[in-house]
Amino acid sequence: MPGSLRLTRAQLAVVLEHARACAPEEACGVLAGDKNGSVRHVFTMNNSAGSSTFYLMDSREQFRVFDQIEKEGLELVAIFHSHPHSPAFPSGRDTELAFYTDSLYLIVSLMDNKSDCRVFKIVDGKVEEVEMIIVDRQQTE
Ligand SMILES: [Zn+2]
Repeated sequence: MPGSLRLTRAQLAVVLEHARACAPEEACGVLAGDKNGSVRHVFTMNNSAGSSTFYLMDSREQFRVFDQIEKEGLELVAIFHSHPHSPAFPSGRDTELAFYTDSLYLIVSLMDNKSDCRVFKIVDGKVEEVEMIIVDRQQTE
């Protein structure tokens, strides 16, 4: 699992825009990229739970996205979702359902009309924050 998440400003803007577009429901999606945590592709996805307190990726859409990530030779770097009304910290349910132990989890809080973003490792019920690095452009490998 990458030790940090490296996103470009433009990629972060896509994530924030999706979060705002889905509000008051939670938004979700996947960030794919390199093993070191550099994001190359943002996949915005539907929250098939249609809920303001939790999210569920549509299984068919998820299958398509994971297939495309593999075709592009990328890795799953992070799963993102939004918290329209709560802080950017994993809920009990988020911690319980963090099945992708190789993936980071990016949470965007829209609480108080702000957009607060934090990134976590969630393994075996343990939550650890990791650094999010915002860059103008990704380095080429
Ligand atoms: Zn959550």
